Amino acid sequence: MKNPIYSAKFISGDPKWAPVSPYFKKCFALKGEVKRAKLSISALGVFEAFINGERVGRDYMTPGWTNYKKRVLYLEYDVTEMLGCDNELLVGVGHGWFASRGGFIDTKEGMYGSYPALILALEIEYSGGGHELILSDESFDVARSPVLFSGIYDGETFDARITPEFSEKARVYDYDHSTLFPFDGTPTREIETVGVKEVIFTPKGECVLDFGQEITGNIQFVIKGSEAGRVVSIDCAEILDKDGNFYRDNYRTALSRITYTTKEGWQTYKAHYTFFGFRYLRLNDWCEEVRPENFTAIVMHSDMERTAFFKCSNEKINKLYSNIIWGQRDNFLDIPTDCPQRDERLGWTGDAQVFARTASINYDTEKFYTKWLRDAMSEQFEDGGLPYVIPDALRKDCKNGAAWSDFACVIPWELYMAYGNKALLREHLPLMKKWVNYVYNCPGKKYLWQNGKHFGDWLGLDAPAGSYRGSTNEELIASAYFYLCTTLLTKALDALGMKSDRYRNMAKRIKSNYLKTYVKRGRLISDTQTAHVLTLHFGLVDGEPALRESLAKRLVGLIEENGYALTTGFVGTPHLLDTLTEIGRSDLAYKLLLREEYPGWLFSVKMGATTIWEHWDGMREDGSVWSTDMNSFNHYAYGSVASWFYGTILGIRPTAPKYESFDLCPIPCRELGSAKARINTRSGDITSAWAYEGEFVRYDFTVPEGSVATVKLIDGKEERLGGGSYVRWTRAAD
Ligand code: BGC
Repeated sequence: MKNPIYSAKFISGDPKWAPVSPYFKKCFALKGEVKRAKLSISALGVFEAFINGERVGRDYMTPGWTNYKKRVLYLEYDVTEMLGCDNELLVGVGHGWFASRGGFIDTKEGMYGSYPALILALEIEYSGGGHELILSDESFDVARSPVLFSGIYDGETFDARITPEFSEKARVYDYDHSTLFPFDGTPTREIETVGVKEVIFTPKGECVLDFGQEITGNIQFVIKGSEAGRVVSIDCAEILDKDGNFYRDNYRTALSRITYTTKEGWQTYKAHYTFFGFRYLRLNDWCEEVRPENFTAIVMHSDMERTAFFKCSNEKINKLYSNIIWGQRDNFLDIPTDCPQRDERLGWTGDAQVFARTASINYDTEKFYTKWLRDAMSEQFEDGGLPYVIPDALRKDCKNGAAWSDFACVIPWELYMAYGNKALLREHLPLMKKWVNYVYNCPGKKYLWQNGKHFGDWLGLDAPAGSYRGSTNEELIASAYFYLCTTLLTKALDALGMKSDRYRNMAKRIKSNYLKTYVKRGRLISDTQTAHVLTLHFGLVDGEPALRESLAKRLVGLIEENGYALTTGFVGTPHLLDTLTEIGRSDLAYKLLLREEYPGWLFSVKMGATTIWEHWDGMREDGSVWSTDMNSFNHYAYGSVASWFYGTILGIRPTAPKYESFDLCPIPCRELGSAKARINTRSGDITSAWAYEGEFVRYDFTVPEGSVATVKLIDGKEERLGGGSYVRWTRAAD
């Protein structure tokens, strides 16, 4: 039966009230004992609903971010226990993603509309038989709420003195009901709270709270308004500058501020319709003594189940791992974002693509990505092209970037390998196919991807001065990704028992053209680490042993020549350690991982990071910053290295979907001392652990019942194991 919400009306307050958020109210009496009551609700904006003063559900920032022109998701709540004889249903709706500005364009325009609206259906089933249906319509009362402003980037302004006056009736907001779909994502929830670690008075005299951890979520405070009408505000920051002052230039145009006007007496507040990314808060005009216990950071993200754990005896690597987990938590708020703080917070597809494997081991991301991939399918252009960001907040000509739009094949395949859901893979097939066909049809030489507009090896350290794009040839990157996507599409079709010849042949032709075009006299035309990494790792020289060996040697040479340091950016880095492992140089991979100087993963750890930085040197040794412009301290892309922790340090690698069969090929390293990981897969719990014991290494494995593991140890021994727990030993290699 169709949800009755389709018969309800979208309603709003007076659009002239903007930017004040409206409250909607409906009072009703019940005619008997309630057997069951269900509230179906959505908004063009972000809603919070209350029945008789009690909040409905534990979800925040609902209904989340979709392309509201195509998909407006409604949520359903069982509210049976919340109803009494006389009832008041109260719903506040803030601007949310619908009516906030977005997409790093400094404008006041809302992304999809200028003013929020509500739609709901309350179905009541009486114990004695009979039904009642309350649908949002013009009979709802509406008022200005105390939320005077709310915006995704800019924060919230609240006047606690305001008591809403419901003196008007709601207006009907004309909106297409065919955009309504049941919520198919992972609801955003308040997951935990973090207290103040330190109250700091900076050299500039600012009062700053340090929470000791960069989080994404909300800010709650308790304040005493000695008199009503005092205005205080709070600003967010990720770091302090080199002099120890509050630093927020890297938020760019995002105000990210709470402005609050007190009423009389003690009061508690947290924002209603937005979220913040921060470690530090600056309290402005807080005249009374600042008590740390009056401030709480509330961690919010999509409520996914944690499915993997890693620990070793090297505390710096453990901290890096913790930063990666936080990077994921902080950027999985309804959609996968690049960062949670500055005027972006966008579903950048390249970032999502490189992080998807790590993300899907750390957490159960199946529903999360499925929703986002549906968003992607709703945004795919007629010709198969795809926007840079999903939902498409940039519009204009921001589409089809190599390694970015290629998420269309990479993420469905990663999901299939992690969770083995064929129905989902089938659902994603049109996205994959249309994308590969798009690239195939691009102008330029067939079976290569030429003439595109790309980001290159974004933020690669070999970028020419003044550019963000690493120096690897962009067509080489695009064609390597074209090959990867075509290969993944072929595998997907095979897995679904469908014809794949066209794409298998396409992949062959791409490979042959790639080698003809980008290899000259046995060398890649781009003598960069990233070019070598992609060529080797994507299998473009498989079946060419001599060439493979010489490129492998050159990759090692490039790293050595650079003083054992990487130069890779967003495109090369995620595959760098895997590639070194594949060419038999896991020792070099460890060397890069354990490097504490810039550039390397442990540099930020040494500098006190609590999340993953966008730049290898976001902050320099002396505390100065790389740039004000493109310098987030919470970008998960380089955190993709955690898949190497699971896949190489502990050697857990699926060889069939959902780990029905997998390799156990750990590579121990003395500097780590010992390491262990557990992955809770769809086939059961897998554990792998090792520890140095003098000249020997002891391994402990658990293989779930029904799975088959192929153990490959560093002494070259191989064996197949079924469900059970096992101990093995090798002589230490180092
Ligand atoms: C974002 C990135 C993104 C990039 C595209 C940046 O502004 O923050 O993470 O992938 O643009 O090049």
